Amino acid sequence: MSVPMHQLPQQQPSVWLPASVEEALLLKHKWGDRAALVAGGTWLRTRWESGLSPMPDHLISLGRIPSLSALTVDSIGNIHIGPALPLSDLMTNPLAGATCGLLLRACAEIAAPSVRNLASIGGNVMTRTGDLIPALLVLGAQVSCSGGNAERTLPLAKWLVTGPAPNEVMTAIVISPSGEAAAEFYLKVGRREAFTPSVVTVAGRLSLSEDGTIRALAIAAGGGNAIPARFEELEAAVTGQALTKPLLQSLHAGILEQFNAVADDYAGVPYRKQTAANLIVSELYKAWRKGGGSDVSQP
Ligand SMILES: Cc1cc2nc3c(=O)[nH]c(=O)nc-3n(C[C@H](O)[C@H](O)[C@H](O)COP(=O)(O)OP(=O)(O)OC[C@H]3O[C@@H](n4cnc5c(N)ncnc54)[C@H](O)[C@@H]3O)c2cc1C
Repeated sequence: MSVPMHQLPQQQPSVWLPASVEEALLLKHKWGDRAALVAGGTWLRTRWESGLSPMPDHLISLGRIPSLSALTVDSIGNIHIGPALPLSDLMTNPLAGATCGLLLRACAEIAAPSVRNLASIGGNVMTRTGDLIPALLVLGAQVSCSGGNAERTLPLAKWLVTGPAPNEVMTAIVISPSGEAAAEFYLKVGRREAFTPSVVTVAGRLSLSEDGTIRALAIAAGGGNAIPARFEELEAAVTGQALTKPLLQSLHAGILEQFNAVADDYAGVPYRKQTAANLIVSELYKAWRKGGGSDVSQP
C-alpha cells in the first residue's frame, strides 16, 4: 500500500539500534511519545499507512537485543520466549515444537509466511488484540516487562486488563510445562479461509480424569477488536463434573453471556458470541467422543 504524500513525515524517522534492553529504555525515556519501540514493525506499519497514528520521529528497533529474540528453558522447565522472536523462527524451533504445539498452530493462522518472517510474538501480544493471545491464555502464559528500575512478571490474563505501561519493554513471555491434555484446540474464523483478519478466535485445553470427569479446563476467546479473555468462572464451575449434554449447554449459555465481543463493520456482537460458543462446545464434544463417550450420557 502506498502512503499519500501528505502523510509522509517531512523528515524520515531516525532508526536506533540499541544492543540491550537498558539502552532501549534510555532512548524511549529520552524521546517519549516521539519514539516507538519496533519489533517486526508489521502492525505499526498498518497504523501509519492507514493514518491511525503518525509515524514517530524515532524508531527504536528491538531486533539487535539478543535476549529479546532467544528461546530458553529454565531449571524447572519453564519456556522463556523472547518477545522479538519472529513467528517463523518460533514455528521452526524444535523446543517450541515439542512443548507449545498449540501456540505454533496459532502462529500458522497469522497473516502469510512473508509477514511471519518479520512479525514477532511480543508485537502480537502488545497490540492486546493479537490472534495469538487466546492460545497463550489457555497455556497460562506470564509476561515480564521492564521499565528500567524494576522488572515485573505477571499473568498475561492480568496484564491484558490494564495493558502496557508507558515506556516499558516486554522482556519475556513465559510458559510453564502443562501436563497431557485430552484435547487442545485453536480455531480462527475470518471472512475468508486464510490470510484474513480474525472475526473470532478460540482456544482451549481440556484434561479428563480416568472416570471421565473434567480435571482441568481452560477456554478463551477473542478476535477482531476484542481483548481476548479466559472464561475462568465457567471453567471453575465445570471442573470435577462429568462432560454431559446439560454441562455443554450451560457452558454454551455462559460463553454467550460472558464473551466481550466487539462489533465492527463486518460482524456484530451476537454473531461473534454465537460463533465462539459453538466452536468451543463442539471441540469439547469432539474430545468427549474421542475419549470413548457414548450412550445415555451422550452430550
Ligand atoms: C498483511 C498483514 C496481515 C496480518 N495478519 C494478522 C493476523 O492474522 N492476526 C494478527 O493477530 N495480526 C495480524 N497482523 C498484525 C501483525 O503482523 C501481528 O500482530 C504481529 O505479530 C505484530 O508483531 P510485530 O513484531 O510486527 O509488531 P510491531 O509492529 O513491531 O509492534 C506492535 C506494537 O508492539 C510494541 N512492541 C513490540 N515489541 C515490544 C516489546 N518487546 N516491548 C514493548 N513494546 C513492544 C510496538 O511499539 C507496537 O506498539 C497482520 C499484519 C499485516 C501487515
